[in-house]
Amino acid sequence: MAALTDLSYIKALLSRHGFTFSKALGQNFLINPSVCPKMAELSGLNENAGALEIGPGIGVLTEQLAKRSKHVVAVELDKRLLPLLAETLSPYDNISIINDDILKADLPKIIEDEFYSRGITDIYVCANLPYYITSPVIMHLLESELPFKSLTFMVQKEAADRLCAKVGSRDSGAVTVAVAVRAKAEKLFTVQAGSFFPAPKVDSAVIRLTPYEVPPVKIDNMKFFSRFVRAAFEQRRKTLANSVASALNSDKASISQALKDLGLNESVRAEALSLEELAAVANTLYSISKD
Ligand code: SAM
Repeated sequence: MAALTDLSYIKALLSRHGFTFSKALGQNFLINPSVCPKMAELSGLNENAGALEIGPGIGVLTEQLAKRSKHVVAVELDKRLLPLLAETLSPYDNISIINDDILKADLPKIIEDEFYSRGITDIYVCANLPYYITSPVIMHLLESELPFKSLTFMVQKEAADRLCAKVGSRDSGAVTVAVAVRAKAEKLFTVQAGSFFPAPKVDSAVIRLTPYEVPPVKIDNMKFFSRFVRAAFEQRRKTLANSVASALNSDKASISQALKDLGLNESVRAEALSLEELAAVANTLYSISKD
């Protein structure tokens, strides 16, 4: 069978199945032959482990995951791709395709049925993400608290810069903080727009998130912390005290006092604070909110 990155093979396959791309589903397929092997390799996957993929498309990354793991589960929303996947992945007997939306699928059940039942306990996530749901998917997987060894994603280059930014730097935002409390984030390599068919308007980058076994900062209540971070970064031009007071419906004076007690300027903006400082402010506000 021809390589799944061979453009004339892809065009013939798509036309034989009458498949047309859906922009709304973020369908840009990888055609640069070096990218998928590199992603699969850098994910850290091994022959005793399981791989979870989101959006296999025609299976170009799925195939590389199957070659390096015991079993692959690929969740694809577009049911029109199922017959194509059945054809392209027919040489492999260690792949399950699940037709579902990754944001709605019952992941604990999938992991139980597909991995644990086969004696596979180490699970690696690897995907060329549909860009319209980059942050929701990443947060959904990290917040699920499922024991993933690592999560390796192709994302838009700007998203990679934000996700891997240092908390407290200009590039950081609410999602940077939400990731940083849960995982080590690394930008691995960039990928030109021409590596995809059809070529998107933007360049991309591959990132790897490695969940922490021990969190880097102490968070007294993760739900409260998440609400606080979203509120703190929502209006970037406002001071942290103003943003948080209006969004969390709390009293600005006590927020200013909490900042002063922690040795912080009361007119500080969220993006200027380190992870430790954000955690300290959130923990103080959480303790006040319980009084
Ligand atoms: N992995 C393939 C590749 O690298 O060529 C395709 C990647 S393409 C950027 C994104 C894929 O995600 C498409 O196949 C699309 O149909 C699928 N997709 C879009 N939204 C999804 C969702 N909510 N859940 C699962 N898959 C989704």
